[in-house]
Amino acid sequence: MHYIDVILPIPIPKLFTYSITEAEVGFLKPGMRVSVPFGKSKIYTALVHSVHTNEPYAYEAKEIHQILDDKPVITQKQLEHWQWISEYYMCTLGDVMRAALPNAFILESETLITSNKDGVFEESDLEDDEFLIFEALQHQSSLKILDIISILDKKNVLPVIKRLLDKNVISVDEEIFEKYKPKLVRYVKLQSQFSSNQGLQDLLEELSRAPKQREVIMTLFSLSAQTKKPIKVSELTEKSKASSAIIKALIDKDILEEYFIQTDRIEYSGEENNPIKKLSEAQTIAFQEIKNSFETHNITLLHGVTSSGKTEIYVKLIEDILAQNKQVLYLLPEIALTTQLVNRLQDYFGEKVAVFHSKYSSQERVEVWNQVLNKSSKAQIILGARSSVLLPFQDLGLVIIDEEHESSYKQFDPAPRYHARDAAIVLAHLFKCKSLLGSATPSVESYHNTRINKYALVELTTRYNNVLMPDIELVDIKDKQKRKRMTGHFSDRLIEEMTETLKEGHQVILFQNRRGFSPIVECNTCGVSPQCPNCDVSLTYHQYKNQLRCHYCGYHAVMIKACEACGSLDLDNKGFGTQQVEDEVKELFPKCNVARMDLDTTRGKYGYEKVITALEQQEIDILVGTQMLTKGLDFRHVKLVGIMNADNMLNFPDFRAHERSFQLMVQVSGRAGRTEERGKVLIQTYNPFHRILQQVTTNSYLEMFEEQMDERRNFKYPPIYRLIKITLKHRDYNKVNMAADWYAKSLRLVFKTDVLGPEFPPVARIRNQFIKHIIVKIPPKQSVAKTKETIIKINNSFLAVKDFRAVRVILNVDSY
Ligand code: ADP
Ligand code: ZN
Ligand code: ZN
Repeated sequence: MHYIDVILPIPIPKLFTYSITEAEVGFLKPGMRVSVPFGKSKIYTALVHSVHTNEPYAYEAKEIHQILDDKPVITQKQLEHWQWISEYYMCTLGDVMRAALPNAFILESETLITSNKDGVFEESDLEDDEFLIFEALQHQSSLKILDIISILDKKNVLPVIKRLLDKNVISVDEEIFEKYKPKLVRYVKLQSQFSSNQGLQDLLEELSRAPKQREVIMTLFSLSAQTKKPIKVSELTEKSKASSAIIKALIDKDILEEYFIQTDRIEYSGEENNPIKKLSEAQTIAFQEIKNSFETHNITLLHGVTSSGKTEIYVKLIEDILAQNKQVLYLLPEIALTTQLVNRLQDYFGEKVAVFHSKYSSQERVEVWNQVLNKSSKAQIILGARSSVLLPFQDLGLVIIDEEHESSYKQFDPAPRYHARDAAIVLAHLFKCKSLLGSATPSVESYHNTRINKYALVELTTRYNNVLMPDIELVDIKDKQKRKRMTGHFSDRLIEEMTETLKEGHQVILFQNRRGFSPIVECNTCGVSPQCPNCDVSLTYHQYKNQLRCHYCGYHAVMIKACEACGSLDLDNKGFGTQQVEDEVKELFPKCNVARMDLDTTRGKYGYEKVITALEQQEIDILVGTQMLTKGLDFRHVKLVGIMNADNMLNFPDFRAHERSFQLMVQVSGRAGRTEERGKVLIQTYNPFHRILQQVTTNSYLEMFEEQMDERRNFKYPPIYRLIKITLKHRDYNKVNMAADWYAKSLRLVFKTDVLGPEFPPVARIRNQFIKHIIVKIPPKQSVAKTKETIIKINNSFLAVKDFRAVRVILNVDSY
């Protein structure tokens, strides 16, 4: 008899064995999908892990239903990589499988089947069973697999579903995404009667009394002669230094004609391959150093200040790898912010660039998956967020991890709780290729790795074109308040600098940290704030919708008119979010275009793009935003950056708070003055003598690093020690307490003082579940693998205690 071991897309610790027929033995290979029965009545898509002849001893192997692929959809290397992820991050292979495969690859009992509204197909092409499903979907909006089993009256329906998917008749489990409305960009050209030489002469003569308008026409003429491309209004205003009023006057006079072109920001528009930029001297040296470092190291950290031209160096490296016909993985922390980068890379590499991220529909993801698997030239460079490390690479030649310090590389929930940077480095090892990490503010971990010679270090200390680093000024708002120099949350200095910058026609970015600045409502009479009924937090006030919302569970209610505790009408807003900043700015600068970029305003697949394009097109004068502003955006006209309040992030109770604050502030500051005159940054704070603020002002990364390392050493934190966080959750307060005590006690028997907790986190109840954390610290000399083994043993005994069975346990390795 022959058997296969399969990975099921559910969190069970072991592989499951099924029997296969003689005919199937020759056909089945690891990495193919099969549909299998499981439990009493479930059906799953499973992934073949191995083919063998060992009968399982604990149960009788069932037969598979059907083979779903004629060749593997995942590679042997992926299986190895998944194995590493599941062992290192203490999760099941099923967890990894679910994270890796696009939804459309995993059909199961719960999958929702809907008809594909955009699908184009001939009804006559449908087989009888396919037609039955198609017809059923004309009468109901969705079907579950179990419904289809009863409609077709057979168990084995996944092949039919797969055929329907291939024929574009149905869709599976798609989230509904906002439809992309392409951004219209404004262009101008001369009305046709002026296009002849004579016509132009006459026009210039006519405009001799209007020198500004004349200047615009001349500029337009020389621009079109140079570039032979359509001219954007934004380009014209910039080059001719004309205001938009002048351009409008020319349009009104029927001299200029305005028109709009759609700019589809993700699809490659098919423009010719631009030559790669020639590296500056400093970049060339860094590039050579990286190449040399790869002779001795597998991993190199490029520490280059903001706007030093790191991306152009990556481009050079990518060019080399493409010449060897290999694939490149280019990781970014949050892909939604990468439009600019996609465009830049496509300018050089055209359709070789593919983008992969979770905001894409299942169909789009399947497409990229297959291109990578087939080593298509259409996806030689994969630009992706976290989950793109799970793609089926065939021949990876280089991994680039940009903004390597970003904490969003670590998956928080659900399992696998992997760090994409670290998983990518392991992937590179499997392909025996190199990894390049890049950042202006490297994580303490990575910089430490250069110190112990695990990574090589290459530094780039000047900005491209020798643009000066921004001038950073600290504004003491305690003092300003005392001297009544504050207007709302704005110091007189900030207002002065903003006024100046706007007058010069430059743009301003205002940064407000999202943490702890949610506006809450407080009763001035009794001091009570409305609380979420499901979580231990105050509800935050959303002015725009006049709602109170919970950021943890999504609970929302209409804003209260009177205090629910004492009935008083005297309610007050505490804390200030981006919305408040926006409102205040609008009052201070009523003539300016103000926009906001935060989670609220950028929902939907193209939410960010809209704001970013508007900023690029200079339709926005002042942009107020959160963390999102920091992610490597390159805006030419931003000259001033204001950090509204630095203190809250510094005071956050987390051993990484200082490191993160430094990174955040340096990155936001880096948005100022990237090409033109020197940028200016104002940081408002109650505590201008804080070491971190001093280090930000002088851009002293090394000083920050050494100081943080001292603290981590003294208090036993990463990168010296490693951390595994164990979280327990249950509805019952007492049960969670008892369970956590039992768990921590068992851990202490082995790990002694290296166990912290159990402790309630600052928000101790979320969605009606009480939460307790225990932290295990792993000293440098202690085996990480052995530690995990021990924890798993303790975990298994814990799960065997009947009383604790309903308590949820989450293991988070290298927790953030
Ligand atoms: P970083 O990634 O280090 O922040 P970028 O690669 O975005 O820096 O470069 C900053 C700016 O300088 C960009 O506008 C980029 O186009 C420009 N730039 C960088 N290197 C070159 C080069 N060699 N030639 C021309 N422009 C360059
Ligand atoms: Zn009250
Ligand atoms: Zn809640």
